[in-house]
Amino acid sequence: MVDVISKKDVQTVSDPHKRDIDPWADFRLVERLNLEFTQNYTHSLGKYSRFFVELENSRFMATRCETCEGVYAPPRPLCPQCLRVTQWVELPGTGTVETYSVLHFSPGSNADVEALKTPYILAYVLLDGSSTLFPHILDAPPDIVQIGMRVRVHYVDRTVFHPLHLMYFVPVEG
Ligand SMILES: [Zn+2]
Repeated sequence: MVDVISKKDVQTVSDPHKRDIDPWADFRLVERLNLEFTQNYTHSLGKYSRFFVELENSRFMATRCETCEGVYAPPRPLCPQCLRVTQWVELPGTGTVETYSVLHFSPGSNADVEALKTPYILAYVLLDGSSTLFPHILDAPPDIVQIGMRVRVHYVDRTVFHPLHLMYFVPVEG
């Protein structure tokens, strides 16, 4: 849609030294366009790729440093303590909520996030066997979520926008 502002809608600035002559008068006709752009990107998930590939196989992978025995989930290709290349290890996918937030607004940053119904839970989960916290969506009613709650990874088998949404956490029943 083309939206035109005519110059009679634009107030000219009076300048006594220029005797009220507006040298920009012919350029005050402003045309505004509403344009929508779409771009597709192809990018690599690099050294983290195996984590996302294995989510499609319903396996939760972390990395482990053989020097300090630290286990990183999300995975880190390099141990930040020892600067040693880590090794892939599989975790059982169960863990404990260490802290969480109830979100009443979705940033809508991609189709997966847009699909979230508010309020939703962002939980920081200490996975069994891991040394670090893993932040992700916890699909549970806000009134039952609490620190110390046991959760497990739920694997998604539908098409997702970003492979991080091939999983989310759910409460462990019983
Ligand atoms: Zn280490």
